[in-house]
Formats: sequence, structure tokens, C-alpha cells
Amino acid sequence: MTAAPLLDLRNLRDLHATERDSALAGISATLEYSSAEEIAGWVAGTFGSDVIVAASMQDAVLPHLFAQVIPGIEVLFLETGYHFPETLLTLDRAVRALPITLVQALPRQSVPEQDAEYGEKLHDRDPNLCCFLRKVEPLARSLDGRAAWVTGVRRVEGPTRASTPIVSWDERHGLVKISPLVTWSDEDVEAYQVKHELLRNPLVAQGYPSIGCAPCTRRVAPGEDPRAGRWSGNDKTECGIHA
Ligand code: SF4
Repeated sequence: MTAAPLLDLRNLRDLHATERDSALAGISATLEYSSAEEIAGWVAGTFGSDVIVAASMQDAVLPHLFAQVIPGIEVLFLETGYHFPETLLTLDRAVRALPITLVQALPRQSVPEQDAEYGEKLHDRDPNLCCFLRKVEPLARSLDGRAAWVTGVRRVEGPTRASTPIVSWDERHGLVKISPLVTWSDEDVEAYQVKHELLRNPLVAQGYPSIGCAPCTRRVAPGEDPRAGRWSGNDKTECGIHA
């Protein structure tokens, strides 16, 4: 199915917030029971190639899903300088295997430059500042001027994500945000990977169901909250790019 937009969704910046939010909420509601493939098709029909897909490379679901409908789709990877080697290997394999165009969002400072200005291991002392410098600000620069971005946020990932809409206006970045996997369970992710024989990040099988930067991600025990390994021992639960 398709949701027929009443507005030019590529150009919503100057629209009154109430009209814009209402229109996007209606579209989101229409897409609520669509498959991820149908939502990807709607994105392609609505935005063409003026959309970028954010991928953490915990898995390759989103790059694969969108490469089917937008060959050459730009895939955004936040290269924080702190990733596990396995994650970078997964990224490299995805770029080789899929018709995608990699866009790396780079912090303004390298890790040594950041260490020199703020001291070593800023992630241990002030993870919010570290995430701002290495994720939030580079993401904002990468999204500037674009019409839409796609994220892999799922509602089951935690309370802060439980009411995430499929389509919404991203006020901070000034563009449409689409989360086509919001209704997916962990089993849905696994089923998609099996069906399409997707490459895997080997860390997942080693007890890392939620993967971020190496200094801020630990292995979780069976039955433990999948996101318990992120910023473990700190009350921080989000890096700041979604909430
Ligand atoms: Fe820094 Fe940790 Fe945030 Fe990565 S997840 S940017 S290392 S605080």
C-alpha cells in the first residue's frame, strides 16, 4: 500500500508546525500496519534519493532494505573513532556486498586531539559531552540540507523509544525522520537476516545485542536487558541523537 502525501514532504521547513506535524502524524498512522518493505517503497516514492539511512552496523538490515528500492542509497555511519574492530569489519563487508554509498560522519577532532583538549577517556568522565562531540554534532552536520533520514529505532529497545512514530518531523535537524522498523521485535530482525542471508556483526553472537562504541558497550548476560550493556554503570541510556 502507499500513503498519498498531501504536501511536498521534501520541503516542509517553512510550513506551520501544527499543519506539518498533523500531516506527518496522519501519514505515520497510515503506515503503522505496513511492512518495512512497503514503508521503504513509500520513502523511495516520496523522497527519491534525497534521503540518507543511518546505520550503526550492529546489523545490515536497513542498508539492505533500502538498497532494494534506492540502489546507491547513501548510508550514514557515525565514525566516532571508538568502534569495535568487528563493527568496522561489518561496515566494510556491507559496503562491498550491497549497492550503497557510504557517508562517514566524522567528529571535528580525532581522538588524540580530543584527549589533548579534554583529557583522556572523556567517555568515562562526561559521556554526554563525548557523545555530543563524536555523534550528535557530526550527525547534525551530515543531515544539514537533506529532506529526510531513516533510522533503525525500534519501540522494544526501551522506554525512551516506546512511542516512536514511523514518520515524524525532526525538529532539531529540520527534516523528516522515518523509522520503518519501529514495530519490529528482535525475532523480526533475526527473521529478516535469515531470509536475506545477511552478513552479521560477529559481536551479536558473542553476547552484545546492542552495540555502540567499545568503551561504552559491554557484553550482557542471557535474559538481561539488551541495552543494559550500553553506558553500564551510568544513568545514561541514549547517545542523544534520538532522544
Ligand atoms: Fe564517546 Fe561512549 Fe558516546 Fe562513543 S558512546 S561517543 S565513546 S561517550
